[in-house]
Amino acid sequence: MSVETQKETLGFQTEVKQLLHLMIHSLYSNKEIFLRELISNASDAVDKLRFEALSKPELLEGGAELKIRVSFDKDAKTVTLEDNGIGMNREDVITHLGTIAKSGTADFMKNLTGDQKKDSHLIGQFGVGFYSAFIVADQVEVFSRRAGLPASEGVHWSSKGEGEFEVATIDKAERGTRIVLHLKSGEDEFADGWRLRNIIKKYSDHIALPIELPKEAAAAEGEEKPALEWETVNRASALWTRPRTEIKDEEYQEFYKHIAHDFENPLSWSHNKVEGKLEYSSLLYVPARAPFDLYQREAPKGLKLYVQRVFVMDQAESFLPLYLRFIKGVVDSNDLSLNVSREILQKDPIIDSMKSALTKRVLDMLEKLAKNEPEQYKGFWKNFGQVMKEGPAEDFANKEKIAGLLRFASTQGDDGEQNVSLADYLARAKEGQDKIYFLTGESYAQVKNSPHLEVFRKKGIEVLLLTDRIDEWLMSYLNEFDGKSFVDVARGDLDLGNLDSEEDKKAAEEVAKTKEGLVERIKTALGESVSEVRVSHRLTDSPAILAIGEQDLGLQMRQILEASGQKVPDSKPIFEFNPTHPLIEKLDGEQSEERFGDLSHILFDQAALAAGDSLKDPAAYVRRLNKLLVELSV
Ligand code: ADP
Repeated sequence: MSVETQKETLGFQTEVKQLLHLMIHSLYSNKEIFLRELISNASDAVDKLRFEALSKPELLEGGAELKIRVSFDKDAKTVTLEDNGIGMNREDVITHLGTIAKSGTADFMKNLTGDQKKDSHLIGQFGVGFYSAFIVADQVEVFSRRAGLPASEGVHWSSKGEGEFEVATIDKAERGTRIVLHLKSGEDEFADGWRLRNIIKKYSDHIALPIELPKEAAAAEGEEKPALEWETVNRASALWTRPRTEIKDEEYQEFYKHIAHDFENPLSWSHNKVEGKLEYSSLLYVPARAPFDLYQREAPKGLKLYVQRVFVMDQAESFLPLYLRFIKGVVDSNDLSLNVSREILQKDPIIDSMKSALTKRVLDMLEKLAKNEPEQYKGFWKNFGQVMKEGPAEDFANKEKIAGLLRFASTQGDDGEQNVSLADYLARAKEGQDKIYFLTGESYAQVKNSPHLEVFRKKGIEVLLLTDRIDEWLMSYLNEFDGKSFVDVARGDLDLGNLDSEEDKKAAEEVAKTKEGLVERIKTALGESVSEVRVSHRLTDSPAILAIGEQDLGLQMRQILEASGQKVPDSKPIFEFNPTHPLIEKLDGEQSEERFGDLSHILFDQAALAAGDSLKDPAAYVRRLNKLLVELSV
């Protein structure tokens, strides 16, 4: 053992402590994954070295044969992993093995419930990496040296996984990282060649570099131990370079876990090789679950980029649009230069054509999933539906395709589940119906009882019910699907087209004519509060309703703007009343102008409430209503 200098003891970041505690207590049923996590890190470290060595070949000094070695000592109860990758300097060790750099970690930790079953799922989403060593070890030592630094600048990190860790400077002859796990009592089954080999085959076969184990060369009792011979136990070729037909589902799944830092299997994948003008391979995955930071701006997104099998960068964002940021995978190009940078990627026309091809692949994969595995697609939609809804605004070229993937709640369901596709909707459309009707609002409970739906219910026409915050904005980008235009049932002068018979229309006109006087009186009473007053043909049960002007912002957009502190353009609703409703008949017969005014305002406010809006002057509403109640009771 070499001399240690500059020894210090440091505390783990709070989040690390929490993670360690949780991991030890909730991942106990699947302990062997620690090896996968550590091999995955070692493989990343080798990838980084290979890439940096392109411009600095001297980094490979002392061994260009890149590999990972796993060994064990039954007596000492240790498992050791060694890689000759990029390594870490003292500062790297302190930050990488003492903190969690991911944005939103603190928030994530707050969501943990203490319920081990639920938390182990959450942790899976988070990705535990290095710290998983403490599932099986009660002491972990890391010896590392960053490639390019002198042997005297090695680091020794050591921790019992409780509150703190020690770091010291040591001599380390070879670059790279060696991790020694001192197994907990009861975990010595892992100090076993057969066991380790099986775990490596199971989880790490796809790792593109050799993973070696000592050959079992048994020495006779009392003999010197023979020099170690090593043998490669994994397949050690990049998975995506192999033909599809030769790759088993399990291999695809393990590869996904490696690149996505996810514990769960993906929902689907698409593996392709493109030859011709452009040459590249891609392997794209749809995760089963949204990562905890899906909505964080700085969250990692994008694909792993390789150029001719050499890893070039993580999170290459330029290959997919933002609304597909949840897709994980690898793209390996033969056309790009090995020294591409993010900036170059953003401008390169090659990237543009790859991006549109990869986008199509993802959309095709999702279409297939929706068609062949509708239950799985439901799960997908729950996790990623909100993000998919950003699609039509971002990706004009694929608008129709994206629209086909959207799922909505509708008046046909009774649980508010978003599981109606536009194709389902059109397949059920009424004879002569050439529009897709929808209503937006704050919650399913609110919209499903909206008076705007009355006429649709009467005629048996399905209406899509949109209650996600993004929906009104989404609908401003969707004009039509399959040649049928979208109509907001709360907007403008509802025209049911062919769904209204000529007689109905004529009858409505007749009624409207007889109510012209009433329209004028209400207009005078409501004054500045409304842009227009008219007889409604949307209502069967309610006395009145507020419609939004054709060009005005709806409630959701107004609320979003208000919440973000922006000035909301003034707009006034259209007041529509139901001429056959007893309250309206009463209003029509009202002699007292004062009472006519009160009643008109009450109807107006009630219509606003029914639409989920808040009242401008709630006290006035209560005062007027109480006045009427008092008059009623005398
Ligand atoms: P993640 O791999 O998700 O970043 P980890 O906790 O597994 O999280 O690892 C934290 C960091 O420690 C890695 O990102 C890497 O920078 C560093 N690291 C871990 N293992 C190694 C290794 N074998 N060689 C070099 N760096 C490593």
